[in-house]
Amino acid sequence: MKKFSVAEMARKQIEKAAKTMGLSEQLLKIFMCPKRLLRVTFPVQMDDGTVKCFIGYRCQYNDARGPTKGGVRYHPDVSEDEVIALAAWMTWKCALVDLPYGGAKGGVICDPTQLSERELEKITRRYTAEIMPILGPHIDIPAPDVFTTSKTMAWMMDTFSMMTGRTEPAVVTGKPEVLGGSKGRKEATGKGVFITTRELYRKIGKSLKGARIIVQGFGNVGSYAAYFLSQEGAKIIAASDSSTGIIDPEGLDVKDMMECVEKHKLLEPYKKGKKVPRDEVLYQEADILIPAALENQIREDNADKIKVKAIVEGANGPTTPEADEILEKKGVYVVPDILANSGGVIVSHFEWVQALSGLYWEEKEVNERLENKLVKTFNEVWETSEKLKTSLRISAYIVALNRVAEVYKYRGIFP
Ligand code: NAD
Repeated sequence: MKKFSVAEMARKQIEKAAKTMGLSEQLLKIFMCPKRLLRVTFPVQMDDGTVKCFIGYRCQYNDARGPTKGGVRYHPDVSEDEVIALAAWMTWKCALVDLPYGGAKGGVICDPTQLSERELEKITRRYTAEIMPILGPHIDIPAPDVFTTSKTMAWMMDTFSMMTGRTEPAVVTGKPEVLGGSKGRKEATGKGVFITTRELYRKIGKSLKGARIIVQGFGNVGSYAAYFLSQEGAKIIAASDSSTGIIDPEGLDVKDMMECVEKHKLLEPYKKGKKVPRDEVLYQEADILIPAALENQIREDNADKIKVKAIVEGANGPTTPEADEILEKKGVYVVPDILANSGGVIVSHFEWVQALSGLYWEEKEVNERLENKLVKTFNEVWETSEKLKTSLRISAYIVALNRVAEVYKYRGIFP
């Protein structure tokens, strides 16, 4: 069987949107190619004295609109193929929400659950040193992603600052507040998932009160999305993480589960609700599914088993193009990742602006700006979808690709 390629999936999405909007062949060629890809191998002395070599990547997909921006992922499945796809999605996401950024992504192949804090710090610092030539507040600005946190960003910022000889808070976002992290950044992606879900429900004339929701992946994005949705009166009837699935038709206690994950890292020790194999949660009867784990979760082979009326993508790339077609035929609304999870990069942009200016904002200002940007973009995507009679995903891509295409009209192709 042919191996699944996330980069190919990202390319198919661009091709489909390009065809619908009539994008020129020249621009399509540019949009299909990552601009820069760095692969590094570096040794780290482990706690037991042995030396291990790690492989890391950084891909800068397209920087036509500004310095590149994107997370750093620590996971055993990190690959060249995956960073290219994730960097491409960052490019379209930043363009969609009209940020002055291109897209990037990075990662290190490792299993963070098997590493001590000391080992994680060494890996982070050495990885940062290796990709240093292509990093910088006006070149490429990393942020947290799967299994990386504000602490990881603090180590990256410190390493960069030590090597340049000056403290540089604008080189990463998602930092602790004391280092110039923005208020509201930690919960921003989950909050964005909530806002886009609410906007979808407004458009289709429904209320979130009592809406039954499934959340796959209970990390940063999934847990905060669940939290804000439950605050609005929705019921989280099923949730999962890499260790287990949990179901309760009466609604799970999100705060309680967040405390469990804070303490034990996983949902496995959580006592309430009914435990089920983690993938079972995807197939429960509910109103909304929020995939907030990894890519390639809703595929041709399981899309038919999904029984929700709407999917709001917290994760990047959870739905394959083949699954998209099945869901479209079933009349399921899919709020695409580049819109639904863009809250994170929106507030990351606010953090970068604050770091560059040295002027820090109150949480109220951050949240108001986030809300305005997301509602405006949601409306733009919805209107495009109504006008062109196309899915929300393709509509989001059309808005994004148009923005990048517009830049090429003026910048041209060097030389
Ligand atoms: P995280 O590491 O905080 O959480 C990931 C969660 O997914 C964990 O609970 C993990 O146990 C769970 N998980 C892993 N494999 C699973 C599986 N097969 N089934 C169920 N659960 C599984 O990461 P995160 O930052 O919340 O990122 C989640 C997704 O959101 C990723 O696709 C990431 O690229 C995307 N994203 C994150 C941000 C951000 O600001 N953190 C922004 C935009 C998009």
